Amino acid sequence: MSVKVEGLTVSYEGKVALDHIDLEVQDGEFLVILGSSGSGKTTLLRCIAGLLKPTEGRVYIDGNDVTDLYPSERNVAMVFQNFALYPHMTVHDNIALNLKIKGLKREEIEERVNRVAKALQIEKHLSKRPRQLSGGEQQRVGLARAMVRDPLVYLMDEPLSNLDAKLRHEMLSELRRFHEQVKKTIIYVCHDQDEAMALASRIVVLSQGRIVQSGTPEELYDHPATVFVASFIGSPAMNLIRSVANGHSVALGSERIRTSTDFGQGRAVMVGVRPEGLSLSDDGEIVAEFRYSTMMGDMLLVTASLPDGTAVNALVPRKDVRGQVLENSTLRFTARNSKVYIFDAETQRLVEEIDAGQANPY
Ligand code: ADP
Ligand code: MG
Repeated sequence: MSVKVEGLTVSYEGKVALDHIDLEVQDGEFLVILGSSGSGKTTLLRCIAGLLKPTEGRVYIDGNDVTDLYPSERNVAMVFQNFALYPHMTVHDNIALNLKIKGLKREEIEERVNRVAKALQIEKHLSKRPRQLSGGEQQRVGLARAMVRDPLVYLMDEPLSNLDAKLRHEMLSELRRFHEQVKKTIIYVCHDQDEAMALASRIVVLSQGRIVQSGTPEELYDHPATVFVASFIGSPAMNLIRSVANGHSVALGSERIRTSTDFGQGRAVMVGVRPEGLSLSDDGEIVAEFRYSTMMGDMLLVTASLPDGTAVNALVPRKDVRGQVLENSTLRFTARNSKVYIFDAETQRLVEEIDAGQANPY
């Protein structure tokens, strides 16, 4: 079912946590709301679930205004960030509870509980009590409790945050498969951009209670609208190098890059280049002092400092630096083969994207 939020505002004791949020979620979308801690994600989900009354604004589910309805009247299933399982009940009964309340037949309940337990790899725990489980196992029970239901919309608040990397990876595939099967709207909240990229049909980036940008994972990665999104989406994060643009060009190290924008006389900008876009080159335009390197499989993440102290990261094939001594050396990088982003330093907004090969010496 579709979900719409209009002018949603929440203040806690006069402090604004959500600031006039407008959001439309299409039927069947897997929408991920991505934002760092404190950006208002849980507050937004709680308003949609009906657990929190907004200070201002309306919430619609399937076109109906549900703002004044109780949570139980909205038919949404929510996985809580700080969920509580019933300690005296078995895992099985925790998962089955809502189905029993709804009066489903015993066989139907068993069938659904077993299917979800199998998908989430908790079958062998069904007869245990929650306290006999690890944090990650309990989290999967919390997820199972929502997935077993048949609501209009699923709301999930950081349901994978307690899992180790391998299990989280498996759960991501499980969630995707689940969504393909049920074909229902899922609104999923997390702070991890990898998780958002892996799951979302669309991502909404939230910062300080406001929507900064919304789009497919590809759109956000390829066309970040602001410095914030540029540095938040993509890992390792995009390099942002302070510079000055003049007329139709912007300086990047010892080169100037032609722009179609006329920047007039000296405008402060940030030049964005992804770490995978920088390569080591003897005649590279960016000169930086080596600081340290981090192995990332076949790639090496090389971290160096610009003269002003700004750190730059370059992701280079390990074979390219084999035998080369990086310690205590001055490195030269080039962005010639990469896409480059120009952001206005004051407004922090994207001004221009420049495709590879536009750099030209004076
Ligand atoms: P997120 O889930 O993105 O971490 P929250 O929605 O939990 O963010 O919180 C958004 C902001 O609202 C934060 O600044 C947080 O401190 C504040 N906040 C959340 N819940 C309450 C509350 N019950 N009372 C007062 N302030 C709150
Ligand atoms: Mg939260």
